Amino acid sequence: MIERIDYPRTDLLINGTWRPPTGGRYAAVLNPATGAEIGSVAIASREDLIEVAECVLSGLKTWNGMPLLKRYAIMRDAAQNLRSRVDLIAPLLTLEQGKPLLEAKAELNAGADVIEWFSDEMRRAYGRTIPSRLSGVLNMTISRAVGPVAAFTPWNFPINQVVRKISVALAAGCSIVVKGPEETPAAPAELIKAFLDAGVPAGALNLIFGVPSEVSEFLIPHPNIKKISFTGSTAVGKHLASLAGRHMKLSTMELGGHAPAIILDDADVPRAISVLATGKYRNAGQVCVAPTRFLVQEGTYANFVDQFVAFARNINVGNGLDPSTTMGPLIHERRRAAVEELITDSVARGAKVLHGGKRVGNEGFFFEPTVLADVPQDARIMNEEPFGPVAIMQSVRTIDDAIDEANRLPFGLASYAFTSSLASSHEMANRIEAGMTSINYNGIALPELPFGGINDSGYGSEGGYNAIESYLHTKLVTQAAN
Ligand code: NAD
Repeated sequence: MIERIDYPRTDLLINGTWRPPTGGRYAAVLNPATGAEIGSVAIASREDLIEVAECVLSGLKTWNGMPLLKRYAIMRDAAQNLRSRVDLIAPLLTLEQGKPLLEAKAELNAGADVIEWFSDEMRRAYGRTIPSRLSGVLNMTISRAVGPVAAFTPWNFPINQVVRKISVALAAGCSIVVKGPEETPAAPAELIKAFLDAGVPAGALNLIFGVPSEVSEFLIPHPNIKKISFTGSTAVGKHLASLAGRHMKLSTMELGGHAPAIILDDADVPRAISVLATGKYRNAGQVCVAPTRFLVQEGTYANFVDQFVAFARNINVGNGLDPSTTMGPLIHERRRAAVEELITDSVARGAKVLHGGKRVGNEGFFFEPTVLADVPQDARIMNEEPFGPVAIMQSVRTIDDAIDEANRLPFGLASYAFTSSLASSHEMANRIEAGMTSINYNGIALPELPFGGINDSGYGSEGGYNAIESYLHTKLVTQAAN
């Protein structure tokens, strides 16, 4: 286990300079594995917000004015910088977020993939020509950056959430101010250094931290900001989307989920367990696409549940810096208390705890990998995102019952299905109401694939060919020869 890591104080990056906040206010950063304070993060003042809103506009002009190939080369170098720094940044990420070191490294490497993919996308922001009804007239569309972006990112994937927003914005030619996660500030700051060291000019990329509501209420209405991107809870997302709407700002909203996983009698159960249980307990379940409601057809229910509980029993909960750890702590006491309350409520309504269900140890914010069964539909956990290491097992009779339950909630982010029948696969692909359905494996969240939800899970995509579209507007140029 790594014995000593120098955890930095994280300042604000405004207009190319790292500096303390005006007013000198900082918040404590805790190590979720011990509960101890490990450092501090700058809290932006109103003066800082005014300054960042100004410089993100000048940054747009500088970045957008650079030749495409220069911007492309900078993005490629940023990816390379990030890859070469994985071993330096991963321990910081684990220290502040709690996830096992291997997961931290995987997140960083995936971050470099995201930058590379979007850097290629920037070279494909095509326009069109449109046949004219008149002779001597040329109609064409050109794709133009929408303008400065304000992005709000959470603590569960401190690199991934930030890198997706920065990469797509810069690829579209936009400048960006990121309001990073106050719980986990050091890893995103290192990510941003990878971009700056590659040559992203002052003002084009800014990083601030602060009181989230103060920052969003200042930046979203600000006339210099043209686009909002938020990842976080549905409740906050609805509030920010309405603020954006009131000020006529474009927005992408990546919100909560409550992913159903349907396992039919003809599924390859060991494979389903390996994919779904890994997906459930990764990052201690604090993942918006984590499978949550396991809808298992009755012929395979007992076998599936037994194997799932055996998987959960084998999870080694501990400090993410310890190489034997396979699941770290929850992010903070508030999250742990929220998970605990959901379990208490379920049990009070008759649910059975097949495994886990309790806090672990006296230090840090650890919680046991948990498996629940017989949870009544009116239990809170059947309706609210647990955002923690809790799997809910439910036996279903038919594929129709499974799909009905999958579609019962207003969320619609990820969904999973396991079956060896092509017909059942097609049926689930067509009838499950979600932004993403992954069948017989977990293929969600690769940079080249669309990533996003519907209904209460938000709108817009953070990946794939259509992610960049919401950072570009289509301008018509129609021109007569003379
Ligand atoms: P929270 O709702 O307090 O915060 C979620 C995120 O939103 C945080 O990053 C926070 O800084 C930000 N936020 C909160 N109020 C804001 C505001 N007024 N303006 C701008 N940003 C604001 O919840 P939490 O306890 O940190 O996390 C728990 C819940 O958040 C979970 O239940 C989950 O639904 C959701 N969440 C989702 C994701 C995701 O990947 N979709 C990630 C983290 C959290």
